[in-house]
Amino acid sequence: MMNTTEQSTEHFRKILWDRLQRLDTHSGTGNTEFHTVTERLTIQIAFNRLDNNEYNKCIKCNGIIAATRLFANPTALTCDDCDLGKTA
Ligand SMILES: [Zn+2]
Repeated sequence: MMNTTEQSTEHFRKILWDRLQRLDTHSGTGNTEFHTVTERLTIQIAFNRLDNNEYNKCIKCNGIIAATRLFANPTALTCDDCDLGKTA
């Protein structure tokens, strides 16, 4: 069944996949910078979260991460409130 959530999931999967591809392109040139390694890990965590259906679940408060926030930052792990330190 194709609902809005699943469509978004596919959308984010594609974005994350594209990012990973770009990183692979860079690592082909011997780029092993810490930044690249960290980015790859961050993307893999996001993939895991998609697989576990907890992609939009805040790791701090278990609340829902707003879709707009995820569109702006596809590897976000916390909701706006937690990011701003309103709840901790
Ligand atoms: Zn939160």
